[in-house]
Amino acid sequence: MSPTPAPGVVYGAGGGSYEVRLDQGEVVEASLRGRLKQEPRTGESVVVGDHVELARRGNGWVVERVLERASQLVRRGPGGRRAKVAVANVDRVLVVIAAREPDPAPALVDRLLAISEASGFHPVLLVNKVDLPGGPDAATSLVGLYGPIGYPVLPMSAVTGQGMEALTQRIGYGVSALVGPSGTGKSSILNRLHPELGLRTGTLSRKTGKGRHTTVGARLIALECGGVVADTPGFGDVGVWGMNAAEVARCFPEISFREDGCRFRGCAHVREPDCAVRQAVEAGEVAESRYRSYVALRDEAASAEARETRTSLVRRSPLPEEE
Ligand code: GDP
Ligand code: ZN
Repeated sequence: MSPTPAPGVVYGAGGGSYEVRLDQGEVVEASLRGRLKQEPRTGESVVVGDHVELARRGNGWVVERVLERASQLVRRGPGGRRAKVAVANVDRVLVVIAAREPDPAPALVDRLLAISEASGFHPVLLVNKVDLPGGPDAATSLVGLYGPIGYPVLPMSAVTGQGMEALTQRIGYGVSALVGPSGTGKSSILNRLHPELGLRTGTLSRKTGKGRHTTVGARLIALECGGVVADTPGFGDVGVWGMNAAEVARCFPEISFREDGCRFRGCAHVREPDCAVRQAVEAGEVAESRYRSYVALRDEAASAEARETRTSLVRRSPLPEEE
């Protein structure tokens, strides 16, 4: 029994058990102290990336304390409204898409960028599979679209190794989260960075063109280059959490940057007169695809707000005859 708490970081979680890498280097399994399970916090009380303190309990370890999170990557739970913290204490986000197979869908790319922005990250866009026919052209147009907004765009190939050095330089310290739809090559990139991993990589289903899910649950992976990567599968089909319609603009840098030029404060940039954002779209200074994504995410946030209002009406205290 050691009375001093052992500090560490949660590398994996599943079935009520946590894989914790202690600061001394040892990797141990730990369970949650009963009190921690009941703590009312957003999402789970302990998630991958959390900095924790463990204590010995019999032959095993328990999580005694969770340190305050410096950051968290949040998404909406599947089909639900509840926020889900995917991973905590991430230092940077890399959005992974493919130049080809699957072809990059602007709506999805913009959604992933916006989710990262909503969590407080200014992401890097990794454009994988540039080795495929048409890949370099696709990458060039993505550089043209996202570069001027301020997103670094990194064309690469997990097959030929192109761009891997630039990637290694970016993720050589701290914790990086790779988010993106399945089938874009995240597992292949991780295998290339860290061959011992031997992650299973999926093949594209010919019928749907969509990648199969090949991994479940977030986890951290310590890389040879010194950095740590958060593998967060299933981030392709998520909603924007924690934003009301008015805040969506904040997740589109080229839109929020122009808001001061709008005639009305709180302009939604949809139907208002003298809107600097719509003028910029018409002038070709803001890409139409970006504007469409903005409107779609704004609508989505607005209908989530409306749902929330309905729910709170339903949840009001019961009528006397129901008691
Ligand atoms: P994940 O679902 O994002 O983890 O994607 P995978 O790593 O499983 O890759 C999906 C498919 O794309 C697999 O068949 C990979 O072999 C293939 N793939 C991954 N990276 C590349 C690449 O850079 N070039 C090419 N041509 N294929 C790739
Ligand atoms: Zn406006």
